[in-house]
Amino acid sequence: MMILLMKPEATVAEIGAVLKRCRERELKAVPSHGPGRNSVGIIQADQTTDLSDLATLPGVDEITPVSTAFNLVGREFQPEPTIIPVGEAQIGSGEFVVMAGPCSVETPEQIESCAEAVAAGGARILRGGAYKPRSSPYSFQGLGEEGLRIMAKAGRNHGLPIVTEVMHPDLVETVAGYADILQIGARNVQNYALLEAVGQTRRPVFLKRGMMTTIKELLLAAEYILAGGNRQVMLCERGIRTFETATRNTLDIAAVPVIKSMSHLPVIIDPSHAAGYREFVPALAMSALAAGADGIMVEMHPVPEEAYSDGRQSLDFPQFADMMAQLRNVARALGRPMAPARDPEQQMA
Ligand code: PEP
Ligand code: MN
Repeated sequence: MMILLMKPEATVAEIGAVLKRCRERELKAVPSHGPGRNSVGIIQADQTTDLSDLATLPGVDEITPVSTAFNLVGREFQPEPTIIPVGEAQIGSGEFVVMAGPCSVETPEQIESCAEAVAAGGARILRGGAYKPRSSPYSFQGLGEEGLRIMAKAGRNHGLPIVTEVMHPDLVETVAGYADILQIGARNVQNYALLEAVGQTRRPVFLKRGMMTTIKELLLAAEYILAGGNRQVMLCERGIRTFETATRNTLDIAAVPVIKSMSHLPVIIDPSHAAGYREFVPALAMSALAAGADGIMVEMHPVPEEAYSDGRQSLDFPQFADMMAQLRNVARALGRPMAPARDPEQQMA
């Protein structure tokens, strides 16, 4: 990709003229609006491409090549952080955003009680799976569209946007009909047909790192989505597979500063799938905040022992409320904004 840097004083009309010329030449161009300067990324161009006609257009300052494989997700193209507004949350803005809910949507009562506890605790977004990627074909596979329906209703009842997983390109439209954020699970991070399908939507995407995916591969997976035209992507570190067996996965906390140095996309930590055991979840959540993550996604359940999936790593409601109170204390110490608890009793906790 080549970056066409506009002069600081370049006008909207001049940027428009650049984009128009690119269209005429059938060059795929993506604008980036920085606070200081605007630029236009010309995908699939390199130093051998003749861009002299563009270089001489009014408002154009210089043309430079991107030196990494990360065209649109990289900091070279966009130095400023991407901020994704979802409901009242501004993901990537500096605010620490908590997304919480059960692993699986099970019953209307279960998801409704989770939504109530999520909202009371001050989390911003309700999570829950309706289509579940299970390691065994004999495990609970999720409620499907009925799960989406009851989860969306629970979210509405408590003013919470919802994030839920989509596993198949054919289901993207259905899931996008209910979900505020489309989750792509660890097992599908390199499902390129699915990445292209969510790239065609205008829903924010929550992309989870696979248990065997390098940071570079994760960023290139996100690049597929941005190349499709959807720039609202957040990246989630959820633990990778190592020789350690005391936890379900090994949380790669270094992924937070590393990804942030390379990319402008928000970074979220999932302490639940990393830990695998609920007693370790709050410590990992705290480390996410301290390391500079933009938020966490955490599993909780009214009766974790009876959960259809991932009960062992799910917090019960009092544990969730305690963790939220601890996170607010750490956020305050770090000067990171975080939503207050809605329930005054939990605010005191
Ligand atoms: C989940 O969020 O419930 C899930 C299936 O996570 P992962 O894709 O990280 O295993
Ligand atoms: Mn789970």
